[in-house]
Amino acid sequence: MGFIDDLKQSVKQVADFAEKKTDTVVEISKLKYQQIQTSKNLDDLMAQLGSAVYSMVKSDYDNKNLVDSLIAEIDTVKENLAEIEEKLAERRDLILCSQCGAKNEKDSIFCKRCGSKLNRTAAEEVTEPMETDSEGSKDQQDEQNQE
Ligand SMILES: [Zn+2]
Repeated sequence: MGFIDDLKQSVKQVADFAEKKTDTVVEISKLKYQQIQTSKNLDDLMAQLGSAVYSMVKSDYDNKNLVDSLIAEIDTVKENLAEIEEKLAERRDLILCSQCGAKNEKDSIFCKRCGSKLNRTAAEEVTEPMETDSEGSKDQQDEQNQE
């Protein structure tokens, strides 16, 4: 049964890996959706606040309670939005610099901290810093690093 177990094991590993990747993608799109909904919600509350303030000032109508509760709600929604955006930034578009370990935006070509050229590896895929000792950019077509 050893072979079957091995096979099961490697199938499981591949599945785990795929699942992990999918999780991140799904999570990012969920967060994006939340971000959009939350900003819409915020716009909506801002509009409500605007009209509440308008009628309060314009017709001397006492909307103080409404204004206060809208402001409180807006603060909460803003906090949520900031949290969502922070999570989103954590999960996407970050490349770890192989030289200094700084996190850089995916679009970056050079590290913002040390200026090294970045390779296109997502931060989460980098398990250990790669030791590249090629100073000039030699063509590394064939892998000679095998022992
Ligand atoms: Zn760096």
